[in-house]
Amino acid sequence: MKTRTTGTPTHHPSLSGLNKTILTRLAKLGIAAKSELVLHLPLRYDDETRLYPINEAPQGQSVLVEGRVVTCEVKYRPRRQLVCHIEDGSGVLTLRFLNFYTSQQKQFAEGVRVRAFGEIRQGFFGDEMVHPKYRVVAADEPVSSALTPVYPTTAGLGQETLRRLIGRALADCDLSDTLPESVIETHRLPLFRESVLFLHNPPPDVAQSELQERRHPAWRRIKFDELLAQQLSMRLHHRRRRAAGAPALRPQNRLTHALQETLPFKLTSAQQKALAQIRHDLVQPYPMQRLLQGDVGSGKTVVAALAALQCVENGYQVAIMAPTEILAEQHYRKFSAWLEGLGVSVAWLAGSLRQKQKREALERVASGEAMVAIGTHALFQDEVEFHNLALAVIDEQHRFGVHQRLALRMKGTRPNKGAQPHQLMMSATPIPRTLAMSYYADLDVSVIDELPPGRTPVATRLIAESRRPEVIQRVRDACMAGSQAYWVCPLIEESETLQLQTALDTHAVLLQTFPELKVGLVHGRLKGEEKTAAMQAFQRGEIQLLVATTVIEVGVDVPNASLMVIEHAERMGLSQMHQLRGRIGRGAEKSTCILLYQNPLTETARERLKIIYENNDGFEVARHDLRLRGPGELLGARQSGVPLLRFADLAVDTDLLDAARDAAPALLQDHPDAAHAHLARWLGAKNEFLKV
Ligand code: ADP
Ligand code: MG
Repeated sequence: MKTRTTGTPTHHPSLSGLNKTILTRLAKLGIAAKSELVLHLPLRYDDETRLYPINEAPQGQSVLVEGRVVTCEVKYRPRRQLVCHIEDGSGVLTLRFLNFYTSQQKQFAEGVRVRAFGEIRQGFFGDEMVHPKYRVVAADEPVSSALTPVYPTTAGLGQETLRRLIGRALADCDLSDTLPESVIETHRLPLFRESVLFLHNPPPDVAQSELQERRHPAWRRIKFDELLAQQLSMRLHHRRRRAAGAPALRPQNRLTHALQETLPFKLTSAQQKALAQIRHDLVQPYPMQRLLQGDVGSGKTVVAALAALQCVENGYQVAIMAPTEILAEQHYRKFSAWLEGLGVSVAWLAGSLRQKQKREALERVASGEAMVAIGTHALFQDEVEFHNLALAVIDEQHRFGVHQRLALRMKGTRPNKGAQPHQLMMSATPIPRTLAMSYYADLDVSVIDELPPGRTPVATRLIAESRRPEVIQRVRDACMAGSQAYWVCPLIEESETLQLQTALDTHAVLLQTFPELKVGLVHGRLKGEEKTAAMQAFQRGEIQLLVATTVIEVGVDVPNASLMVIEHAERMGLSQMHQLRGRIGRGAEKSTCILLYQNPLTETARERLKIIYENNDGFEVARHDLRLRGPGELLGARQSGVPLLRFADLAVDTDLLDAARDAAPALLQDHPDAAHAHLARWLGAKNEFLKV
């Protein structure tokens, strides 16, 4: 294929001429070029084509009505509001505005004709519309003949402005087809130009439901295009990866077998399956790009360790990166215990190291004396040089941004003459396969869908704050009987200082409450060694009750802890609660997680608590989380990437996905220029970010 930079804005007229405020707001919507306005398609449509008599207007949907103003006044009870009555011969309707300008009151002079669009509800004083969209009109002004598009937007960018900008973009941009005729014919698709013009300005006679439900041929064309762009991008990334080259790490079965022999357990069959997939990838002469998903406690770490040993057996280095120092430190200790006995030396790199220790660690990594380097973000700093890095393991990968993962990968390219390290990402926030596919251009996924044997599921209890004394008794009983417990302090999002203060206060109170127990404290502001000291004391059983902020959310592993109290659980997100709860239930003893909540609960908080109470399976929790928060939040997409799919839904549009899969290879083969033009139109600059 000819090399040509994708996304060159040859037919991308710029947005210049717009003021900075608008540009910033457009950027928030992911729009940086004029052509991207063309693909900013309506979220839904308002039907303002039909004028209803007030007394015949259907309820439960937005309708257009028109009448003369009878009265209009400002009322002060129950709160300040503007109340306007209009009348059209068939009936009277109240228009109610809770936020309004004085100028609006003047607008509604008696006798003025007002056209209002909104949902009619049965109010206390008869039919009313709250905050309708409205316009003052002349007599016999014609109604709109087409549905009105409603666009996704952001604060400060009105529909009118967006509509105007989009209208101009449609006139200025190149809307010619990127698909060759053969593809259009085979899949019986309408033209691109026709489709976007139609969706932005639907004609009056269109079947509304087809449009709203996105089944109309114009929508299908857009979804096909989007899915095709995804397929093309996946193939190109895959191709590029295969061309990149990586050390082929054949299993020598020396160290890996030795470790398995010393482990006190056998791998579950799910672990074995995932490991087999990874081992197979590592043998290939091009870089692995695999995501290992598994619920909290499913045993991902040992799988990573065995992968690491396959690398070390071949004389290459491994980097293991974790998002928090507590977690990285724990990996360091675990890996040291497993590997040093096999003669493999492990280095520790974290931000909190003293200069001298750090220099030593850097030297050991650079010389290749340390075969495994474990740490936090510190691992991909400029000063870190590897002797021959061939595998990067990234734990809790969704906590890292695209750039950070790229930076770590680049560490392996120089010493290995351009070859890239293999990459293994791990996550305990399981995401559905279809969702992973719509966020990552080129990623293989392994799933550990089974917990090690002998675990008893954690029992979750919801207890109102008013019953705190019972909870305290319970903690005392458990600790006196030889168990250990976590006490998780409330999350305070607004202020880290406040959060720290709360942790200190909670710790002080619990020290007094439990004079007979050893109570420890960990939080994010502790120095590295203090944190370690507290965690180790807890691990060794010297501390019975550990007061903690959410820093213990990820990865911490203390099997003897069988009780957890989470304060103000109503403030926590689903995945976060599931992760926290995953810290217990790791030993043979029956574990309990107590969610202390404060009444009154908001509706979402109530729903979240119900879900976490009813579901122990991380995949189920993630599914609900996805429903409640949307994929962006779940994946931390704000920093980890741009969604590949905005219109198509992989679960619903399966026929289009098949069609796009069919079309992609032929397009790349026979019409490479068309394929690139298509990618440029759909992905533009985003393309670069999707490859990680
Ligand atoms: P996660 O997948 O959440 O990272 P870990 O790797 O921390 O889970 O494993 C949780 C615990 O389960 C650890 O104590 C680990 O040693 C143990 N473990 C892992 N695999 C098995 C197994 N096959 N049988 C028994 N215990 C296991
Ligand atoms: Mg883990």
